[in-house]
Amino acid sequence: MKTKLRTDITVRDLCEGFVYNELEGKGLYGLSGKLTIQPEYQRNYIYADGKKDVAVIESVLNQYPLGLIYFNKTMDGRFEVLDGQQRITSLGRYVTDRFAVKIDNMEQYFSGLASDKQQLILNTPLLIYECEGAESEIKQWFRTINIAGVPLSDQELLNAVYSGPFVTLAKAEFSNSQNAMIQKWSAYIKGAVNRQEFLQCALDWVSHGKIEAYMSQHRYDNNICELKTYFNTVIDWITAVFTDVEREMCGLEWGRLYETYHNTPYNPTAVSQAVHRLMEDPYIQNRKGIFEYILGGEHDTRLLNVRVFDEATKKKVYRKQTEAAQRAGVSNCPLCAIGHEANRTRLWKLSEMDADHVSAWSRGGATTIENCQMLCRTHNHAKGNR
Ligand SMILES: [Zn+2]
Repeated sequence: MKTKLRTDITVRDLCEGFVYNELEGKGLYGLSGKLTIQPEYQRNYIYADGKKDVAVIESVLNQYPLGLIYFNKTMDGRFEVLDGQQRITSLGRYVTDRFAVKIDNMEQYFSGLASDKQQLILNTPLLIYECEGAESEIKQWFRTINIAGVPLSDQELLNAVYSGPFVTLAKAEFSNSQNAMIQKWSAYIKGAVNRQEFLQCALDWVSHGKIEAYMSQHRYDNNICELKTYFNTVIDWITAVFTDVEREMCGLEWGRLYETYHNTPYNPTAVSQAVHRLMEDPYIQNRKGIFEYILGGEHDTRLLNVRVFDEATKKKVYRKQTEAAQRAGVSNCPLCAIGHEANRTRLWKLSEMDADHVSAWSRGGATTIENCQMLCRTHNHAKGNR
């Protein structure tokens, strides 16, 4: 890979012919049309938060270094921004009056600045590395450089490495904040559209967790039919089975749940009743587990992390049980006491016993002292597995 350091390009040159697409949140072109600011493999502009974009302008006004910017020189002699897209877009947006910066305690747009300040900004030279090399080389390198400010997310990196028609189409569907479906999807998927987290989820589902292999395999596809169909199938399945939308449904492993349970028939009315009953149960500590618990036929209570008896209750019950057992000359584990084994008269230590719901929680038994009994480890384990 050939590189060349350039110091002759100023903010003025860079912002000449700056084009910004408000709808997509992308800086598109600069340097009199010779520079593509947002190549396919670059992420969307995420500096427009009134802090990072302002910080870029303040740095220039204070003549602090902006850091290195990297351009990739393409075959036709044009340039693409490899690293520095966020900084360049901030500069372009400021110079074209898209946001204001507080200077001397006043919010000031570029056009309202004193002309010496305007010139100071425009005449600031930038440190630019021009790189020339094979696509694979450039991308490998892009993967390893550190993007100033916000590190690339895993999916942003994958989008860069596997850029092509597939990623372009997939981003248009799943990374587009203008997509009207995003709101519906947000009930089940956690994350930010512009950080590629919806796309990541869609890819995770269709590839059963093998995102990179899937992207590599489909890199040059001219359609995203499979991705889209699979994604919509999962969403449709969720909304058909669970007619209510609960906050706890957001971010669950819906792809895995779909794969595991989509061949099982469910009665949405009964499911809805179960969701309401369990959501109101004060003993359930993990509400996020309710949905899989229902899908699995309400057997695996481990998913719910049902509240256990506290130490004081266990000690109290242990003492009472042990005293009664000593009087009767039997084991303090009520199940050992009615057995025929050597443990029939054994007095277990507190540390050798576990607390158990006499009337099982899943059948309405409360986590109260009246419903608590101490069992030896073996019997408690056997009871838990029945
Ligand atoms: Zn026992």
